Amino acid sequence: MGAPIRTLSDVDVVGRVVFVRVDFNVPLEDGVVQDDGRIRAAIPTLKELLGRGATLVLMSHLGRPKGPDRALVMAPVAERLGELLGVPVRYLRTEGPGSADEQAFVAAGEPGSVTMLENTRFDSRETKNDPALARVLASYADAYVNDAFGSAHRAHASTEGVARLLPNAAGRLMEAEIRALGRLLKRPERPFAVVLGGSKVSDKIGVIRHLLDLADRVLIGGAMAYTFELARGGEVGASRVEADQQEVALQVLQGAEAKGVSLLLPVDSTCAAELREGVPTSVHASDAIPDGLMGLDIGPRAIRAFRDALDGCRTVFWNGPLGVFETPPFDTGTRAIAQALAGLDAYTVVGGGDSGAAIRAAGLEASIDHVSTGGGASLELLEGRTLPGVAVLEA
Ligand code: ADP
Ligand code: MG
Repeated sequence: MGAPIRTLSDVDVVGRVVFVRVDFNVPLEDGVVQDDGRIRAAIPTLKELLGRGATLVLMSHLGRPKGPDRALVMAPVAERLGELLGVPVRYLRTEGPGSADEQAFVAAGEPGSVTMLENTRFDSRETKNDPALARVLASYADAYVNDAFGSAHRAHASTEGVARLLPNAAGRLMEAEIRALGRLLKRPERPFAVVLGGSKVSDKIGVIRHLLDLADRVLIGGAMAYTFELARGGEVGASRVEADQQEVALQVLQGAEAKGVSLLLPVDSTCAAELREGVPTSVHASDAIPDGLMGLDIGPRAIRAFRDALDGCRTVFWNGPLGVFETPPFDTGTRAIAQALAGLDAYTVVGGGDSGAAIRAAGLEASIDHVSTGGGASLELLEGRTLPGVAVLEA
């Protein structure tokens, strides 16, 4: 990681308009916010700025629109934000970022007001980090604060371009994310265990490689485990694998051995012929799964072995569910390991959208030291990469 970043404590905001990039990319259904966790996560920053006498102009992306999209306007988000902040939030449905109607609306904001701009992605210039768009956004404010950790791995106009044009700083959420993840990379207390699951080796390979140099134990579950088993010559039935990642998996196994890292794969798996709630299941060794069956969760012996491996650890990072946790009973392994993590006397960090959801579904968020709001961003940081949205905030 690079130099220290400027924080809210380093910027003067009294009587100023502050442009805050937030990550309000929340799940919507029929125009209703389904999970407001990301909005709540930005509240401390927004309240602090308002309390210090700032006027706020907020911007976020929502979904992946290819242009203006009625289903992805910020109206429901602005409404929920107003409820959580306890102050009215100004919002106008506009033609998009930088449009003439938006400029007039922002200019009409009273001191101390909160304005929510339209979805950044309605304008294709956003993802191109277009300097003209960045200039218009910069014209809205006297200072820039980025609290959108989940978008910090992208160099977009609202995350990077505009930051260059104004005095800037990280919001409190961004600051907390960088501190929590940074603590894993900088002299973690040992033993340090990394638990990785989820669907694809190819998504996580950068992190696995980087963390092999730092971790004492690496536990691999989820569909990823079957690519490793296949590469080692095991029989994985109809389990999900990435055939083209077998070479990479072998390199990881060799790397772990060479570095003295203990790498644990699930000894057994809970399997079924189809993925459906309440389907009949059977348990098999993970390298001897019968034809036609899929490994859909780590098995009971694997759960015990993973628990034992976590026991006594002083630092744990977890990314990726260990089974298809969306479909019971294949949530068993993920829940068991979440419970184990929550009970450890260790510094615990969970990153990844689905892993975070699993922790929240199990009601364990309060027992984990840090649940990251950024999936891709947290992985890139742990790969040792510089995030463009963070680099621009460095002092
Ligand atoms: P995260 O969002 O936490 O980084 P990923 O997106 O990498 O996690 O992976 C989550 C997905 O992996 C979930 O949808 C889950 O159902 C899937 N998954 C986990 N284990 C298996 C498995 N054994 N077979 C198929 N899919 C799996
Ligand atoms: Mg995911």
